[in-house]
Amino acid sequence: MAEIGIVVQEFILARMVDDPAHSTGGFRLERLANGWQVGRFAALEAAGLVHLVTTRQGPDVQQVRHDPAAAGREIVDVLGLEDAAFLEQVHGGEVVVCEKGGCAGFADGLVTVVKGLVLIGKSGDCPVILIGDRHGRAVGFAHASWRATVAGITPAVVRRMVDLGCAVGDLVACICPSVGPECYEVGEEVRATVISGIGPHAVAFFRPGSGGKPHFDLWHANTDALIRAGVPPQSIHVSGVCTLCRNDLFPSHRRERDAAGRFAAVIALPLDR
Ligand SMILES: [Zn+2]
Repeated sequence: MAEIGIVVQEFILARMVDDPAHSTGGFRLERLANGWQVGRFAALEAAGLVHLVTTRQGPDVQQVRHDPAAAGREIVDVLGLEDAAFLEQVHGGEVVVCEKGGCAGFADGLVTVVKGLVLIGKSGDCPVILIGDRHGRAVGFAHASWRATVAGITPAVVRRMVDLGCAVGDLVACICPSVGPECYEVGEEVRATVISGIGPHAVAFFRPGSGGKPHFDLWHANTDALIRAGVPPQSIHVSGVCTLCRNDLFPSHRRERDAAGRFAAVIALPLDR
């Protein structure tokens, strides 16, 4: 039986390599009553989870970057909840479980089982992956920069949620707007570091770019990592929105360098479950 499982998984991964089309999870932009424009995934709404992705028409992008506590208060008000937790994001593989608001530590994964506690991930090109349990046991996010992806941040968040009582088959994972494979040019040394860190199968996450340098597909790398961690492929969604291409909506470190602000990708368990 185990062998059949492995064959099926390899077939799915091979198909993903050949066919870049994926579920967007019903990602869309919508206007809130306060004037903010936010992104939302129908797939997370269907799972009964609170979430949103902020844009330039939302909390100030410099505030999200430099004063996430203040941005968090605005976001919590909009969501009708009470407290927000965030991380000092450091591009590594560590996951923190938090029970109250404020800075939860230096890490790139954050998880909670506390209803109504809003988790705030910050991004200026890096994929933030929002992960929730259909049965409302826990929510979390991974800040999956290339270094954190090599460090295994996304499967580490999944494992921590399973430790807290989630069944991996009940998890829904959504990859928020971030630098896309068409735009994410990297050096050969990054490609070599990724392949030696993740394994030979990571060759499939790269394609040659027109400028001669490889392009790294972080969406594919994190989708693959989620599947290998046991998340059902049909429960993994990619917004498909590139922050370099849509710099009008989202701050981008690659476009704006050190002046770039950050947008927030946010998830919470509702209070009434
Ligand atoms: Zn792009």
